[in-house]
Amino acid sequence: MEARKFRKVMAANRGEIAIRIFRACTELGISTVAIYSEEDKLSLHRYKADEAYQVGKGKAPIDAYLGIDEIIALAKKREVDAIHPGYGFLAENAEFAEKCEANGIAFIGPTAEMQRALGDKVAARKVAKAAGVATVPGTEEPITHEEDALIFAKNHGYPIIIKAAAGGGGRGMRVANDKKELLEGLQSASSEAKAAFGDPSVFLERYLKNPKHIEVQVLGDAYGNLVHFYERDCSIQRRHQKVVEFAPSLALPGATRLALCTDALKIANQVGYRNAGTVEFLLDEEGKYYFIEMNPRIQVEHTVTEMITGRNLVQAQILIAEGKRLSDPEINIPNQGSIEMRGYAIQCRITTEDPGNNFAPDFGTLTTYRSSAGCGVRLDAGNAFTGSQITPHYDSLLVKVSSWGLTFAEAAHIMDRSLQEFRVRGVKTNIGFLENVITHPVFLAGECNTSFIDQHPELLV
Ligand code: ADP
Repeated sequence: MEARKFRKVMAANRGEIAIRIFRACTELGISTVAIYSEEDKLSLHRYKADEAYQVGKGKAPIDAYLGIDEIIALAKKREVDAIHPGYGFLAENAEFAEKCEANGIAFIGPTAEMQRALGDKVAARKVAKAAGVATVPGTEEPITHEEDALIFAKNHGYPIIIKAAAGGGGRGMRVANDKKELLEGLQSASSEAKAAFGDPSVFLERYLKNPKHIEVQVLGDAYGNLVHFYERDCSIQRRHQKVVEFAPSLALPGATRLALCTDALKIANQVGYRNAGTVEFLLDEEGKYYFIEMNPRIQVEHTVTEMITGRNLVQAQILIAEGKRLSDPEINIPNQGSIEMRGYAIQCRITTEDPGNNFAPDFGTLTTYRSSAGCGVRLDAGNAFTGSQITPHYDSLLVKVSSWGLTFAEAAHIMDRSLQEFRVRGVKTNIGFLENVITHPVFLAGECNTSFIDQHPELLV
């Protein structure tokens, strides 16, 4: 790979992750370019970049950030060297990665080929199998005939989870407890997948009872060097979407942790993975783990990994795209042993949602916004300031709060104190709900599984 130094980087994204990218660039002496939609003309991310340009005039609010040709043409015109896609929007769009490179703009992420090998969950399961890593028992191919689904049910029993091959963000997923739910679920998951991802393919997996979601952060350079940054526990979920994440897990014996992280590297190696990625597993009640998918991008919850390892993952992503080696002094990871884990970190996603009304998104003006601060707290905020307009057009993430402590209990106490310090008025938030989660004895014991929120309705009060 040809090494080059970036002078200017564009974030093809909005909100907190665009700001996270700009900060990493500024630290590296790289100038920054923001794009924003009409609806985001007062949003914070555009003011955090050295240059900002409106895109998607006349388009729907989401589509503004999906206009591949317009974004690349703008990047060329403004002499941008590289584009960071963040997460969501174009982050896993192989065509976008390909077109960036074809236009002489570096794509800060894995190659289009790697994205294709992992973007489809059915394909990713085959990668894991080829690497010798266990997957959840499931169908090898998408379901094209109802009979194949019924045969799977006969062999494995219920419950079964129907999943969109192209799925993400918990969409295109259904749990079936009997034949009727299976047949109905196939239809509805497939139409939801077609609408959300343009691909109706669905496949089946055995639905594990009360698993934990454990994922491993990996990072590779363009020369085949690959390391992991240990795991995150993302079991606290609502509708299969993460709400609170922490690192490291409290549920992994040392030998299991080693095996899990080694298996994550095997999967990444299988596709010659480059840049930052996450290998996701489910850990069952017996302590066995199974691969579910690999996400070829930076994730929302990367902050907790940065806090326990003291490493800057977004900076590393940029340096790798410049052609640096992991062992180069700027990245400074000569080998796996150079990644040390210290203490515990927890992240809470504060959203503008009303827990009292089934987490319906709330909108309006933030009449008051006072955030927390202080020892052990890190904030990654999107559009969070007094006077900010919270619109219905984008996701409801307001600010990510991460805490760090030498022990898990200390990190939890700092998080509790931090959540109490917030004052947000004018728009409803989930802060009270998050406080209930992180002070709950099951959480403090590190024992939450993916059913925790459903099993504890008292959290909503
Ligand atoms: P997405 O890409 O939409 O996020 P994932 O495959 O990563 O979907 O799964 C999201 C969540 O759904 C998991 O963290 C877990 O809570 C639940 N889930 C997925 N597959 C299974 C399974 N086979 N058994 C039990 N729960 C599952």
